[in-house]
Amino acid sequence: MGEEAQAAPGTGASATRIAFIGLGHMGGPMAANLVAAGYSVTGFDVVPAALEAAAAAGVVVAESSAAAADGADVIITMLPAGKHVFAALEGEGPGGGLLAAAKPGSLFLECSTISVDDARTAHELIVASGHRGLDAPVSGGVMGAEAGTLTFMVGGSPDDFAAAGPLFDVMGRRIVLCGGPGAGQAAKVCNNMILGVSMIAVSEAFVLGEKLGLTHEALFDVAAHASGQCWSLTTNCPVPGPVPTSPANRDYQPGFAGALMAKDLGLAVEALNATGVDAVLGRSAEEIYREFSLHGGAGTDFSGIINSIRKASNNTGSD
Ligand code: NAD
Repeated sequence: MGEEAQAAPGTGASATRIAFIGLGHMGGPMAANLVAAGYSVTGFDVVPAALEAAAAAGVVVAESSAAAADGADVIITMLPAGKHVFAALEGEGPGGGLLAAAKPGSLFLECSTISVDDARTAHELIVASGHRGLDAPVSGGVMGAEAGTLTFMVGGSPDDFAAAGPLFDVMGRRIVLCGGPGAGQAAKVCNNMILGVSMIAVSEAFVLGEKLGLTHEALFDVAAHASGQCWSLTTNCPVPGPVPTSPANRDYQPGFAGALMAKDLGLAVEALNATGVDAVLGRSAEEIYREFSLHGGAGTDFSGIINSIRKASNNTGSD
């Protein structure tokens, strides 16, 4: 665990041709960074506006995923969910057909956040088609994608990890080989379960502090330097003031949207059910964020959950 990617010898930017499938909020800037680093990047997205933005950043636009993959050494997918990944790999139409179109031995980097089971199935399909594959989900959000500072959590073989190292280094800052196929998604789902639970815990503590007459600043000054310290408190603080860069200071504009947290916790519950782990807090967090996302929180930062807790607390008349 914790191996860092090493640049593979002889894999200069000019020699490596990249197909980039899925040029949305994350994929667009990731592809742009690869272009800026000197790579030849051919991209495809089913949404024309995404293609136009990518073209402006220097991505060569293809008419289909298969056309983008034709002749590519590395195929990167950055798609919304597992069903889109399978559609891209083996589906029909302009957004599909990657497995058949890629040249033998191509390296697939599957960067979308999908379930561990889907990641392992996708890896089997990729290998059965004569290719190589890594699951490589990311954290760091759109800002990290733009700045090239993403964290990559990678599952697959050490050789493939080493071969992809120069590309990860362009798009990210911390790159960790977590184990075999699916291990990257496993690390992602575990990390985001911690994140969902910890944001709820921090938000509940601030609401309790409000009821007890504590100022936000007082609670922050204590907890940020005591055993309550965590990322949800000291970086993405759910109240305005103590951390000026947190989304709470800009009316909870994301950041990391509630819908994405709900999706990731759904993947966590899927994994909990598959493994039989008794995770009361993880399951509660999934219910809480599913409700939050369904009732207005989908497009706001996930730290906006504090407002739901406040509302529910006032409704119970706990003053
Ligand atoms: P997005 O919806 O902005 O982009 C996905 C793109 O894929 C869209 O432009 C869509 O048109 C395209 N697409 C769908 N099916 C396609 C197909 N068959 N062929 C070609 N293009 C297709 O989503 P995003 O925010 O860029 O997120 C992508 C992935 O990264 C998701 O799995 C998400 O959970 C994960 N992620 C997102 C963030 C974030 O902050 N946005 C952070 C970490 C991880």
